[in-house]
Amino acid sequence: MKIALTLITAIFLGACQQHADEEVNLYSARNEALMKPLLDAFSQETGIKVNLISSKADALLTRIKSEGNNSPADVLLTTDAGRLHRAKLAGIFTAINSATLDKAIPSQYRDPQNQWFGLSVRARPIMSTQAATQMAITRYEDLADPLLAKQICIRSSGNIYNQSLVAAAIEANGEASTETWVKGLVANFARSPQGGDRDQIRAAAAGQCSIVVANTYYLANMLSNKGNADDLQAGSKMTVIWPNQEDRGTHVNVSGAGVLKTAPNKNNAIKLIEFLASDTAQKLYAEVNFEYPVKVGIELHPILKSWGTFKADPLPLSKLGENNADAVKLMDRAGWK
Ligand code: FE
Repeated sequence: MKIALTLITAIFLGACQQHADEEVNLYSARNEALMKPLLDAFSQETGIKVNLISSKADALLTRIKSEGNNSPADVLLTTDAGRLHRAKLAGIFTAINSATLDKAIPSQYRDPQNQWFGLSVRARPIMSTQAATQMAITRYEDLADPLLAKQICIRSSGNIYNQSLVAAAIEANGEASTETWVKGLVANFARSPQGGDRDQIRAAAAGQCSIVVANTYYLANMLSNKGNADDLQAGSKMTVIWPNQEDRGTHVNVSGAGVLKTAPNKNNAIKLIEFLASDTAQKLYAEVNFEYPVKVGIELHPILKSWGTFKADPLPLSKLGENNADAVKLMDRAGWK
């Protein structure tokens, strides 16, 4: 009897031990406050503990490379397809075959070799103050029109969101035509590029310019209770213009993740990415950071709904990474600081 009890206790402790051992190490370039509710929901559902390391995207990539085969990292999570492609080129990811991910994520939002998966969509449309009525802007290409001289505020060419915007234009219009466009766009800058997307909206609201190119989640953040009163007022002055609805569609990008080839907890890594593509997590992305879900049929946040629906550029986002170097050189030649 005593032996049997000891045996049962041993088995029980063994099971607990195994449970406590279930973990996944996430290297994340995303805001911790944004990821926390998603990761808590994952742990609650699966019992897998998430060890979160947060830092800048480039720093995480360098760290993974220097840790080499001993890296504890299972998953790298970052924004922008351009960065995900860079990580793929660095050879740190492994291909994942998951029917769940293939089904949840449209093919243009994942790597063709399944090395990274988009998990939230960010749109980068044109925004304008009501005052900008000199001409009807319907396309990104319109931003090079001399009628818009000194009207445009946009952040620097060092920013990957703008590099990806130009990379998408190269894919749509070719390099020569894109260079002419970027030169015209730069000629219309109201000021030398400075600050982030929110700063462009603030500048437009203050009358320094009337047209901005920015990711929608920044505007939504300003319009929500999460921002401050000045931002709410600035954001309220902006109208969202969905560009290129009659042709290629509005430029979109993703945040996403890949599993590392050296992952010590590969199965849990796959489970985490699958969870982030689930209905529960997709809805949370929209609620916490005002991004668009990658998965179709997920309820949108009311602020996002207020801007109406739009046609997104169906370009496979791996192209943003492939064209990144050409885009950077082109922006430099065109004098985009
Ligand atoms: Fe951002």
